[in-house]
Amino acid sequence: MSTTQVTSESQGQYKAKAFSAASATSKLVPTVISRREPGSHDVQIEILFCGICHSDLHQVRNEWSVMPTVYPCIPGHEIVGRVTKVGSAVTKFKQGDLAAVGCLVDSDGSCPDCQTGLEQFCPQLTLTYNSRDPHLGGVTYGGYSDSIVVKDHFVLHVPSNLDLAGVAPLLCAGITTYSPMRHWGVTNGKKVGVVGLGGLGHMAVKFAHAFGAYVVVFTTSENKKDDAIRLGADEIIISSDPTQMKKHTSSFDFILDTVSAEHDINAYIQLLGRDGNITLVGAPDKPHAVSAFGLLFQRRSISGSIIGGLAETQEMLDFCGKHNITADVEVIPIQKVNEAYERMLKSDVKYRFSINMESIKSD
Ligand code: NAP
Ligand code: ZN
Repeated sequence: MSTTQVTSESQGQYKAKAFSAASATSKLVPTVISRREPGSHDVQIEILFCGICHSDLHQVRNEWSVMPTVYPCIPGHEIVGRVTKVGSAVTKFKQGDLAAVGCLVDSDGSCPDCQTGLEQFCPQLTLTYNSRDPHLGGVTYGGYSDSIVVKDHFVLHVPSNLDLAGVAPLLCAGITTYSPMRHWGVTNGKKVGVVGLGGLGHMAVKFAHAFGAYVVVFTTSENKKDDAIRLGADEIIISSDPTQMKKHTSSFDFILDTVSAEHDINAYIQLLGRDGNITLVGAPDKPHAVSAFGLLFQRRSISGSIIGGLAETQEMLDFCGKHNITADVEVIPIQKVNEAYERMLKSDVKYRFSINMESIKSD
C-alpha cells in the first residue's frame, strides 16, 4: 500500500479484499470491494486482526428486525491494525502507528450526545458496517477485510504492551462491558453478576474483577467453571439449578446480562438487592417478558447499554494497557469464519475468535 500523504478531500477509490455474505442463508465468501481513498481527515489502516462478535452473526443472518441487513454484508467491528496513510489534517496518527476501530465510524459531531462524548447515541451515527455510507453510497463495510478508511475521530490508539489478537475484541466486547459497569458504579466491594460466559461475558468478568468487585458468573455451560475462576470470578453458578440460584436472592448490586438468545431474565431480577440494577447488553431479537413485581420489590431497575463513546473507549484501552488486560482468543484464518459462527452458536469459543487478517492475502 502507498504511504504518501493525502491532501484533498475527493481521492477516488481503491480495491480491498474482504469476506461477504450475499444473503441471510449464505456463507461468508471472498470478494473485492471499493474503499474510499483517505480524505484530509481520514486514516487508512491495514487490518491485522478482527474479532468475531455475536452481533456479526445476528447481522449476517438478518436476525434483528430493528436493523434489517443490506446485502452484500461485510461484518467486523473489532478492528486492530497499522496505519498506512493519513490525510493532511490528521494530527493524532502517522503512518506505521498501531490503530483500532470499533463499532462507530462517523456521527454528526454537533448533537448533545456527540458534544458529551456519547457518540453511540447520536441520531446520525454511522456504524462500521450495514449503515448508510455517506461517502460511497450503499452501506458501510466492516473489518473482515485487508484494510479500512475511517475518520480520525473514530480511530483509537492501542497500548504498545498488549497482544494485538487479544486487543481486537476490546473494541466491542471490551467497551460494551466496561461502559455500563462504570456507569452503574461497579467498584471495590460491590457484588456483581455476569450472565453468560462468552465474548462479552468473559471481558465483563475481567473488568469487574479489576474494579475490585465480588464477581459471580451465571452460565449454562458446566465446562466453563474452571475458566471462570481463572478469569477472575469469585463464584460460579449453573443457572439451570434453582437451588444454587435461590441462595443469592436479593443480594446483587449489579448484574450484566450478555446472553445472545431468548432466556428468562426474571430469574436474575430476583437476585438484585435494594436499588440493584440489571443491564442488558445481549441482544436477542425477541422481547423479554418482565415481571412488574420483580422490579417493584426492592426498587430494582432494568436498563440497556450499547457500546460506548470514543473517549470512554480510549479510556478502556488505556485501562487495559495499564492492567495488562486483553481478550482470551482463539486465532483463526478468515477461511474458518463460517465454522467459527457455528461454534459460537454452540457456546463453543474460549472466549473470542480473532481473525488473523494476514490469511486473507492467500484468498
Ligand atoms: P457469545 O460469545 O456467543 O456469548 C453469548 C453467551 O450467552 C454464550 O457463551 C452462553 O454463555 C450464553 N448463552 C447462549 N445461548 C444461551 C441460551 N439459550 N440461554 C442462556 N445462555 C445462553 O456472544 P457475544 O459476542 O458475547 O454477544 C452476546 C450478545 O451481546 C449478542 O446478542 C450480541 O449481539 C450482543 N452485543 C451487544 C452489544 C451492545 O452494545 N449492547 C455489543 C456487542 C454484542 P454460557 O455458555 O456461559 O451460558
Ligand atoms: Zn460487537
